[in-house]
Amino acid sequence: MTGSTKYIFVTGGVTSSLGKGIVSASLAKLLQARGFTVTIQKLDPYINVDPGTLNPYEHGECYVTEDGAETDLDLGHYERFLDTPTSQANNVTTGRIYQNVINKERRGEFLGKTVQVIPHITDEIKRNIQALGRKGIYDFVITEVGGTVGDIESLPYIEAIRQLKWEKGKDALSIHLTLLPFLSTTGELKTKPTQHSVKELLSLGVQPDILVCRTEHPMVKGMKEKIALFCNVEPRAVIESADAETIYDVPLLMQREQLDVVVLEKLGIEHYPDADLSQWTAFLRRYKEPKGEVHIGLVGKYVELKDAYKSIKEALDHAGAENETKVNIRWVHSEKLTPKNIAKQLGGLSGILVAPGFGHRGIEGKIDAIRYARENRVPFLGICLGMQCAVIEFARNVLGHSTANSTEMEANTTYPVIAMMEEQKSIENKGGTMRLGAYPCKLIEGSKAQIAYKKNSISERHRHRYEFNNAYLEEFKTAGMLPVGTNPQTKLVEVVELKDHPWFVGVQYHPEYKSTVAKPHPLFVGFVKAAIGQAVLAASHKPLVTS
Ligand code: GLN
Repeated sequence: MTGSTKYIFVTGGVTSSLGKGIVSASLAKLLQARGFTVTIQKLDPYINVDPGTLNPYEHGECYVTEDGAETDLDLGHYERFLDTPTSQANNVTTGRIYQNVINKERRGEFLGKTVQVIPHITDEIKRNIQALGRKGIYDFVITEVGGTVGDIESLPYIEAIRQLKWEKGKDALSIHLTLLPFLSTTGELKTKPTQHSVKELLSLGVQPDILVCRTEHPMVKGMKEKIALFCNVEPRAVIESADAETIYDVPLLMQREQLDVVVLEKLGIEHYPDADLSQWTAFLRRYKEPKGEVHIGLVGKYVELKDAYKSIKEALDHAGAENETKVNIRWVHSEKLTPKNIAKQLGGLSGILVAPGFGHRGIEGKIDAIRYARENRVPFLGICLGMQCAVIEFARNVLGHSTANSTEMEANTTYPVIAMMEEQKSIENKGGTMRLGAYPCKLIEGSKAQIAYKKNSISERHRHRYEFNNAYLEEFKTAGMLPVGTNPQTKLVEVVELKDHPWFVGVQYHPEYKSTVAKPHPLFVGFVKAAIGQAVLAASHKPLVTS
């Protein structure tokens, strides 16, 4: 597209958790399918500089970008939908905005002026929104504002949107996402909260151009017209967003409602190519019409909160679709696993994945799960802490170092098989100081990982402070745990595998962040494939039932 970058703002009203991220990603997908270049940005109104220091109970998974930014999990959706990388610039929090402004103030850049929310904070917000547009590569920048309109903390963002809409004229529009609650007593969807939410937005000077209404039941005839009348929008700009069977259906639902067409027309774009969603629909077909199913256990300490393992769950789904198999996840709480109940908890699984994590809570359960996978020859994938636990388990139960541990769990352990990296030792600040982002890794020809990736040099994203302790390398190798992937520069171990096991792979990095609908992650695809193989094997070994 020639001409200036178009800005689309997405706000939410009535309640939080309406799925602004999915709607934004779906709109982006539809625009991308018409050949436009799009990026999506999330503005988070909390004071933390980034979500890296947040407990998953507070905020779900922390998603890591190629450039090592610790970001909101919505960025994971953006990448999974668009298959284009995001970066630090795609996630900005109030903490970061204030930090930038205060740093400028300390450098004397405000020339003696009083520094205020308006214009200084709003200018910094506007600078961050436009920074993506100024790169000159995007036709559209979609900016999603976290939280709900009316919250005190989102006021400066709405004000920044008001100013940008005024400055950009035809090159900007705003979409407001609301909820139509259903009253079961009268059997009706109600529009009043939407009207009030739009009023709230209007009182802040922002007229939404498009309303996306989340609803559990179909909107009845005349409802769009009614909302349009009360909210100063066209009836066709009132978009119904019904509950979907899967998030991957949402782009198609939005296409049916012509969200992209209304957006393009409102932004003055009259000529645009047809959308090509053939790859997307092919994925959906494989995903929804599997030829078989497989059961995989996901062992972690946050399993009651599925958002904590968002990217892993999605990566398993992508890999399932690629294998035309439905992946059923059994969520296994690592704190509740004991050697006594393990066979019951993990029995019948064709694959076991041990999740990343921090701190000692649940660690012994993870180690027990890995022992089970190793001894029973169940396909295993260990990610980050999951890989570190595999190393500890092997040291304890195969090498016979019963007190082996990571120095994260036990600073003075006699066998520190996992230890803090040298460069981490002097670091005191907790935020943004781990080993973060993409690092290269070389794989050994013929290893399970190399076979899965179909290449020898890979690059994967990291988020950790501890590492395999190379002082023990020879001992592990001799006993059958092989370092099949290493960082070519630092020689840090990135991937371990067991010599005598059908499929046992532990990775220090996080493959889940790079799995997308267009490119399911090869390691997850390989893991699910191995699990399918195991299921077939297990079925063929079933004792014959005689009557
Ligand atoms: N806690 C471990 C470390 O810091 C693992 C981190 C993770 O699983 N992301 O090294």
